[in-house]
Amino acid sequence: MPIAPEHLALLYTGPFDAYLYGRASRDPKKKGRSVGSQLSEGRELCEENGWPIKAEFPDVDRSASRYAKRAREKFEEMIAGIESGDCRILVAWEASRYYRDLEVYIRLRNACMANGVLLCYNGTVYDLSKRADRKATAQDALQAEDEAEGMRDRNLRTVRQNAKAGAPHGRLLWGYARRYDVDTGDLVEQYVHPERGPIVRDIFERVAAGQTEYSILKVLRSKGERLPGQRWEYHNLQGMLRNIGYNGRRIHQGRDAGKATWPAIVDDELFAAVQQIVSAPGRRTTDSTAVVHLLSGIARCGLCPGTPPPHLKVLNNRGGILSYQCSEKYDVVIAKAKTDAYVEEAVIEYLESKAALAAFTSTEDQKRASTARARMKQLQGQLDEGRVLAGQLDASGVPRLSVTSLASLEASLMPQIEKAKAESERLNVPPVLRGLVGRPNVDAIWQDMTIEQRRTVLRAVVNIRLMKARVSGVRKIEPGRIRLTFYGEPGFVSDWHRAGRLRQSVAE
Ligand SMILES: [Zn+2]
Repeated sequence: MPIAPEHLALLYTGPFDAYLYGRASRDPKKKGRSVGSQLSEGRELCEENGWPIKAEFPDVDRSASRYAKRAREKFEEMIAGIESGDCRILVAWEASRYYRDLEVYIRLRNACMANGVLLCYNGTVYDLSKRADRKATAQDALQAEDEAEGMRDRNLRTVRQNAKAGAPHGRLLWGYARRYDVDTGDLVEQYVHPERGPIVRDIFERVAAGQTEYSILKVLRSKGERLPGQRWEYHNLQGMLRNIGYNGRRIHQGRDAGKATWPAIVDDELFAAVQQIVSAPGRRTTDSTAVVHLLSGIARCGLCPGTPPPHLKVLNNRGGILSYQCSEKYDVVIAKAKTDAYVEEAVIEYLESKAALAAFTSTEDQKRASTARARMKQLQGQLDEGRVLAGQLDASGVPRLSVTSLASLEASLMPQIEKAKAESERLNVPPVLRGLVGRPNVDAIWQDMTIEQRRTVLRAVVNIRLMKARVSGVRKIEPGRIRLTFYGEPGFVSDWHRAGRLRQSVAE
């Protein structure tokens, strides 16, 4: 007959060297008991009864059922230990922790029987050399297997219910991936696909930066296929840009049905910026053929006073050579082509620079980022310390921090570290510049942009003043001839752009 743990010493001679075994399927909703708490219950039981713990076998994310796909490494390690005579009693918390199918039970029973190892679960000790105990454990094993089957059925029902409640279902949104419980086949979560997610975000950023769908499509096609055998098409892009799923919201019967259970790839601000762009009437989706000059209305006279000073306009003089000229007096004039090239080069260089990155990170952001960095360091230190302790043995040969404790420490610290890391890298860049600032390949992106888009960027990042040539007829741009003041530099005025646009529209 099975016996209570506290009576074990009366009927059997010790020492009762114990193995602890904990197992849990992945359980992000924390519905089940964690492996850590199972093991700590087991530890208490051992302590109460004076059973020295020889080893612990936390078996996280390894299912016992026959639906499991992954190897049950710890289980195998434990069997090997039993067979080597390392322990006298095996402690787990529930029958289902040992065996969810009969095959596993039989292996365990044979190993225990052959090596005189007692089995303890549900607060009862079984001696498998006795027929009655074999029968009782076999019944439990049968029941556990039945429960596993039942759980699988329940999980399938849950999936159907979730689908009704609006959890991820149906076609997977490109950019995401789904994780299923290896045990039950239940959908555990929808997460951001590590390669596709960033592409989606990049696309939104490019649109916000003013690039056309045509140029984005070219970039995407050069990167590869959307899915094997499927080229990127306009409708892919257009559908994507309007899909609130990327903003972490779900649609139900054509309407925004609130926050979804999956994370957003595109944050609220960026998503809103893109919606404004894609819903604008008369939006051009292909490159414009209209003649617009890069700097007219944006660059300003460096000699005339005014807030803002008069802008430059384009003049067609001397046999088709275009020039920029002060729009009020005729005090400054410069050849258009070389001026455009000069400014573009300087702006690209600026956008790629660390100075630009720094300029678009506000002091408030910087403070937050440095706090986050400090926190990240501190958490990382805690984790490192835990890892060192886990690698050290105390006088009795037991790790100073158990593998289980380390696992739960890691489980609690890693997400916090990730969060602090993300926070420390967060930048407060206006949507129009998000796809540009600090990128190493601004040049390539710039080549893809239309002149309108380039003008939008120029308005946001640079003040351009044209000064007088020291000597007339100089072909090269002399130092100081074109004064550029970038965003973040002293003297930069962002209101000019707004004021400039207003003046322009009044003039038109
Ligand atoms: Zn002037």
